[in-house]
Amino acid sequence: MREDIYQKFLETMEFSVEEMPTALEEWKRAADNIGLTEQDISFALNEWIPTYWDISLRGVRMCLGIYIRELIEITKVALYKEENKKIIYGISPSQAICFNAIKFAGKEEVFVSYPDFVLATVLGAFFDKLSLYCGDDSYFSDRCRHCALNRARINMSLVNVIESPDAIWSWGFYCDEGRKTDELIECLGEMQWKFIPTSLPHDSLFGEKEDKDGERVKYLAAQLKAGHEEIGKITGIEIKNKHMLDALVQHSKFSKKLDMLNKLVTNAEPQPMGGNELALFGTIASIALNVGYGQFESALDCILEEVKERIEKEEGILPKYSPKLGCHFTPLNVPWVDRMFLKNGISLTFSSHISFSKKDFMPFDYGDPYMIAAQIWLRNANSVNLGAHAQIMADMLDEYDIDGMLYGFFSFDRWLGTHQFSLKMIEEKSGIQHFYLEGDYWNDRNYRPEDREGRIESIAYFLRTRKMLKNKMNQTK
Ligand code: SF4
Repeated sequence: MREDIYQKFLETMEFSVEEMPTALEEWKRAADNIGLTEQDISFALNEWIPTYWDISLRGVRMCLGIYIRELIEITKVALYKEENKKIIYGISPSQAICFNAIKFAGKEEVFVSYPDFVLATVLGAFFDKLSLYCGDDSYFSDRCRHCALNRARINMSLVNVIESPDAIWSWGFYCDEGRKTDELIECLGEMQWKFIPTSLPHDSLFGEKEDKDGERVKYLAAQLKAGHEEIGKITGIEIKNKHMLDALVQHSKFSKKLDMLNKLVTNAEPQPMGGNELALFGTIASIALNVGYGQFESALDCILEEVKERIEKEEGILPKYSPKLGCHFTPLNVPWVDRMFLKNGISLTFSSHISFSKKDFMPFDYGDPYMIAAQIWLRNANSVNLGAHAQIMADMLDEYDIDGMLYGFFSFDRWLGTHQFSLKMIEEKSGIQHFYLEGDYWNDRNYRPEDREGRIESIAYFLRTRKMLKNKMNQTK
């Protein structure tokens, strides 16, 4: 029985016959290591995953498999340490480019991954088991309403599910709680936890285009370089401009493909695939993968073909011209949200956290790879001041044929207030109505499906009525 269910799980995730003997052994060890039982695997395979993920699409199955492959890698860190490999972690949100450059430089000598992000996503999105590391008796209790990603990091590291690294590069350009979490882990003193904090003052003017502020770009580029130099001192691995360039080329290739996928799915009638599946691809591309990107690229190419095929055959998840909502969160960790909307005749589409605006594909003002990376970061809506954020968001929404945007799901975060403020501005600039649904996109413990159902039904009712009128008006034109 044990053999069967673990193997069936990997087969569903498109592991090949050739890799099965080794992968099966590693997967069983990894599952035990993180606390997943045989019943958990069976529940995920037979109930949770088929309910929330469209595994009739091979690209989706392949992509689910990449999360599992990276998770297995993470559980091999103790072994890699014995082999004297250097271990570098990243935290999210950050820029995978800089972490991939470390991997390009160190190759097999270095392990680079975002362990908390992968583990929390797999446990939450595929197993409904994030509670293993976010229980009442854990650090950062529910009552304090901390981010479940940071909670998972601290609690997993204290029981060695996440092994201590040579260094964790703690990006504070975006998330302030992330660095504090790493400092706390270090202060607890139960393990070696060397963290490299970097940050950027949020002192720009309202509405200022930060990517065009040469001094700011230069300052940020210097911070990125300093991070690499620090990692170089710790690991002995020299990260050169050419490694950054390799990482930038890779970033550009995947950005274009992901942008194509977002637009194909969102703008097609009927919509060929759901918001959960779309987020699956953008999310894993936002972090560095120690397993590399070969499998990811195959999964991405596969899903692009499958989506085109569905569009050609006019196959969709809902009838043509049903209402669509973009997301200002990544829906995959609370996958029931997407399916509850679907049940009510609304499809979730692209997530603005892992999408692109025209600005992202414009030529850069610099040739230096660190300056380019800094400019990429400052073109991101969530990295900049609120006025610029609203403009970038409105420009992004302009490229999507949607009926509204869904906000909320940051009830635990300092962003809560800014979102309520910014969505009003984006609504005015874009003309697209925004809906606010309070929740927690990492951990649904305080916002269960039964609590959110009524609100989802009323948003859906409103959207369906408005869309029906719009469709009628279009017919009579
Ligand atoms: S959800 Fe908020 S607190 Fe959590 S990692 Fe992201 S930015 Fe940081």
